[in-house]
Amino acid sequence: GKAKGADSRVTPMMAQYLDIKRGHPDCLLFYRMGDFYELFFEDARKASETLGIVLTKRGKHLGEDIPMCGVPIERSDDYLHKLIACGHRVAVCEQTEDPAEARKRGGKSVVQRAVVRLVTPGTLTEERLLEPGRANLLVALVRQRDKADAALFGLAAVDISTGAFDVYVTETGALGALLARLEPREIVAAETLLADSVLRARLEEGGAAITPLNEKAFFGRAAEKKLLDYYGLGTLDGLGPLSHLEIDAAGLCLAYIERTQFASKPRLNRPSRVETRAAMEIDAATRVNLELARSQSGQRQGTLLWALDRTVSSAGARTLAEWLAAPLRDIEKIALRQDAAAFFLDDPLLRADLRRDLRAAPDMTRALGRLALDRGGPRDLAALRDGLFAARQCGVALAQKDPPFLLAKAAEFLAEIDTALPQRLAVALGEDLPLDRRAGNFVAAGYDQPLDDARALRDESRRVIASMQGMYCEKAETRALKIKHNNFLGYFIEVNQAQGEKLLKPPFNAEFIHRQTMADAMRFSTAELSQLESRITNAADEALAIEARIFSELVAAALGQSAELEATAAALAALDVLTALAETAADAGWIRPRVDNSLAFQIEAGRHPVVEAALKARGEPFVPNDCDLGGALGGKNKDSGGKLAVITGPNMAGKSTFLRQNALIAILAQIGSFVPAKSAHIGVVDRLFSRVGASDDLARGRSTFMVEMVETAAILNQATEKSLVILDEIGRGTATYDGLSIAWAVMEHLHETNRSRALFATHFHELTHLRQKLPRLVNLCMRVSDWRGEVVFLHEVAQGAADRSYGVQVASLAGLPVAVVERARQILGELELNDLRTPVERLVADLPLFAPAPPPPPAKRGDALREALAALDPDDMTPRQALEALFALKRAA
Ligand code: ADP
Repeated sequence: GKAKGADSRVTPMMAQYLDIKRGHPDCLLFYRMGDFYELFFEDARKASETLGIVLTKRGKHLGEDIPMCGVPIERSDDYLHKLIACGHRVAVCEQTEDPAEARKRGGKSVVQRAVVRLVTPGTLTEERLLEPGRANLLVALVRQRDKADAALFGLAAVDISTGAFDVYVTETGALGALLARLEPREIVAAETLLADSVLRARLEEGGAAITPLNEKAFFGRAAEKKLLDYYGLGTLDGLGPLSHLEIDAAGLCLAYIERTQFASKPRLNRPSRVETRAAMEIDAATRVNLELARSQSGQRQGTLLWALDRTVSSAGARTLAEWLAAPLRDIEKIALRQDAAAFFLDDPLLRADLRRDLRAAPDMTRALGRLALDRGGPRDLAALRDGLFAARQCGVALAQKDPPFLLAKAAEFLAEIDTALPQRLAVALGEDLPLDRRAGNFVAAGYDQPLDDARALRDESRRVIASMQGMYCEKAETRALKIKHNNFLGYFIEVNQAQGEKLLKPPFNAEFIHRQTMADAMRFSTAELSQLESRITNAADEALAIEARIFSELVAAALGQSAELEATAAALAALDVLTALAETAADAGWIRPRVDNSLAFQIEAGRHPVVEAALKARGEPFVPNDCDLGGALGGKNKDSGGKLAVITGPNMAGKSTFLRQNALIAILAQIGSFVPAKSAHIGVVDRLFSRVGASDDLARGRSTFMVEMVETAAILNQATEKSLVILDEIGRGTATYDGLSIAWAVMEHLHETNRSRALFATHFHELTHLRQKLPRLVNLCMRVSDWRGEVVFLHEVAQGAADRSYGVQVASLAGLPVAVVERARQILGELELNDLRTPVERLVADLPLFAPAPPPPPAKRGDALREALAALDPDDMTPRQALEALFALKRAA
């Protein structure tokens, strides 16, 4: 009875904790206590496990121990980083009043606390939590509401660390490609929308955190109002023409930002509409397959971005990644970038000068973002100072030359940067700046007289105290006396036990006031010491207060110019990218491609930039290869469309490398870069598709084949005359005749209907016979030479179909016993003599293109369903495949 009663009492602090925690059930609650954030109960268990920190306990709740773990404030960024990376969300709860206030209220009063911020993957701003060379995007997604089978999505993408704010409208079919391009860290959408499991699975594919929102009042008028309030506008006209989908998405985004940032308001550019059609469309599978920004194993090394990136600043690296994620379709814009890169290529000295200045320019955009959120420090102000000086220097250097259009505009803008702000910052900020403004001592001496006075008083008094030790030694008639300082007593006099006893007695006790007795020492103070001490404290407090005021003034001055600062940072980032493109072209011997609106695709001596770099590191040469897929534009015209090249040759001969290098060259050309080739002429590619056939993995054979077919279907449904299609070993994941037939039909469809420029690598030798049927089909093969009966890969692309017998030669290379290889040669010879290929050749001649498929053999419905069901292996299917299978069954029923 009695003991239990005592146990079940909830302390006032725990009551407060539970109350706050109730408001944030989906977050780990960082509960501020002194110099720590403490976590309790289940939160403590999760955090201690994720962070590998000790789980302790603190007091009891309802008779049970309360599990607890703590994170020191000064290391909280690192811990936050880890928790967020592991998929947690964190609510940061701070003390919102001075603990002294609570003490004044007396009794059991607890310090007031409140959650000031939710930390989620899409709302990070701390330098240590962000990847420097990558945007950190939060995406809000809405679906068209007024149609039953809604086909349009509105999407808003915000980076609160930089203020970028773009809105898009996209069809369902292009949503995947857009998300793959943006690579958001977090996607927010209404709960009702996320209830669509197919859509949800698609959103989850990119690895973003998915956050459902359950409020209803985000859309229509409410969204409009959110935008108007955020930018303090009277009408939305100032934002340019935005559709209601775009407004809804932007409003949803702002609503979520408010929810996570509470009182602080990030600095966001006004939302600008981005036409998805302005960029080459590249879906997620193609990005993975071509290893554009991330290798198949998820790394940066070995990607196109890695081979291309010579930027020297974080902002430049982010901009280059954005350009690469969205190659342009507008040939005039491409030419402007090419002109700029060419200009820098021709002027290595200027390029080196600019790159030196750019390297010194810090990440202004993110510094500005932190300052706007009141999370910035003195180093962020220094970043603006250094960035602005570097920008001006770049502008002046550039304006002296005669740069092409894009650069001339940037030069003019940068050269005329108002230096008042950076100069003010230069005078105001000292050296060795602390990260945290509360540490003080960042304002330079000589900037503010009252501050200098307060500091002088503080330091002078410290010096006086230090010199008082000798005086007290004399007074206490001892040499073993020291003046020390700690946080509890402040300044005090310390003597040993025997001397202490003496000071307790007259006449000494008139001056020395006893404070503390330790095991082997005694501590005293004096009136004079206390007085000096309070002078020091007051002076130090005053200095801190003045510094805090100056900091706010400087931040206000900077934020007052945030639009100019943002434009400056963007111009510097673009300069970094354009000089870097020139640097790469110079280093790696790339050339300027001709890009127009034709259907040309003529690459002379093209190379694969990543494979070439890897080979170079091993001292091996890369063999360049030509590629011509060009054709005539003509819409319905029978002969119009690009060429379809079928590439045959044994494994390891270089087929995949050749396929990919041509896709990469097209991408490089359309971001405005130079390309690894001797010459290149490319008609703008509207969509790029790349697929790799499933490997013959028996265990996963069926489901990977299904994925391969789903992806191939997407190409056949979407590719146009202006697209570039790259297919590597399609149809390989199934039985030979199945695979051959599918590959065959896919090629016919590509040639006749899509009419895209296409490269098709295959080990189905039979496909080369299609040459007789399809006029725009060309056969290419990888040259292989026989050297004393052994295969040597020349990695050279030649006209015509590969010789059949290379398979046998490769077998010998692989170490098959000589007798077996000889026997295989013999059999092959026999087969060719008997002309077993004839059936296929006859088929080519006889089978009309697109003959209607024969009707399926009659079968009892139930049986067919049962069979189809039995063929499914749920353990081996992704949710998406399971769903597709379910639909297929439903259709069959
Ligand atoms: P395949 O697709 O025919 O099996 P890959 O394209 O994967 O062959 O190439 C196999 C290897 O051959 C590559 O890893 C690379 O080292 C080398 N290789 C490919 N193309 C070239 C080339 N043009 N020049 C030099 N080496 C090459």
